[in-house]
Amino acid sequence: MALAEAAVVGTWDVEKWRAESACRYEDVNLFFPAGVTGPAEHQIKQAKAICARCPVRDTCLAFAIETNQEYGVWGGTTEDERRVLRRAWRARRAALKAVS
Ligand code: SF4
Repeated sequence: MALAEAAVVGTWDVEKWRAESACRYEDVNLFFPAGVTGPAEHQIKQAKAICARCPVRDTCLAFAIETNQEYGVWGGTTEDERRVLRRAWRARRAALKAVS
């Protein structure tokens, strides 16, 4: 998965990537829905649609995983989706440390 690989690379630059984001003029509340059902489900779909056309999506996801952003939609992923990616990222990081 390309997004997970980007999270491994972890070359995000907080000063630069946010200025290029597709969500910079969107309502931030769209990216932080209350829950995952009902109206929140629609919000998540809308946020993910914006992420899908974002030029810094991979960088955003890498930032969210590496800085442990637990809430909201980041890099086109929900909290639950990032938990899975974060576990895989930590496992790969541990494996890399073990061989270095
Ligand atoms: S991937 Fe989504 S949340 Fe991240 S900067 Fe782009 S639009 Fe915003």
